Amino acid sequence: MNTEKATFIPDKRKYLFLTDQKGLVILQHVIDAVVESNLPFELVFIGGSSEDETPQTDVSMWLSQQKMGNFLYVSLQWDKLDSIKRLAEDIGFSNEEAQYIGYGEKKTNVFCCRCHGITVVREKETSEEKELPEIRCKHCDLLLSVSDHYSSLRDAYLGYVAKL
Ligand SMILES: [Zn+2]
Repeated sequence: MNTEKATFIPDKRKYLFLTDQKGLVILQHVIDAVVESNLPFELVFIGGSSEDETPQTDVSMWLSQQKMGNFLYVSLQWDKLDSIKRLAEDIGFSNEEAQYIGYGEKKTNVFCCRCHGITVVREKETSEEKELPEIRCKHCDLLLSVSDHYSSLRDAYLGYVAKL
């Protein structure tokens, strides 16, 4: 997933923004550009606390109703962003029709090659470096190197035995 800044893509039929309080700040310059250009847009706000959050079923319905040529911007915390991205992709938004901008701590799941347990590693937003340090499996205590082999089935990167 990219960590790029949101960029205004001109000449779309309509602009869709799905975001929360912090994400709104990230998307602000794109929203400004859309408003200044007098282009149609819709903004769905996902509340900060879990109680007043727009249910995912509503988000799903909203996205399903959109026509071809609409452009989607999503800016949310990484873990929420992942599920919304999957949802949007299932509905049919391609990478050319959407931008996803995550913020905050990024969680990476690491799959242990020995015990098949998942260890969650938190990455700081600032670390551009993709490479993760060696981690210790929290289930069997094995020292793991994190590969770039990603299993979408397990939503995790494969951890293999770190060189001794
Ligand atoms: Zn393990």
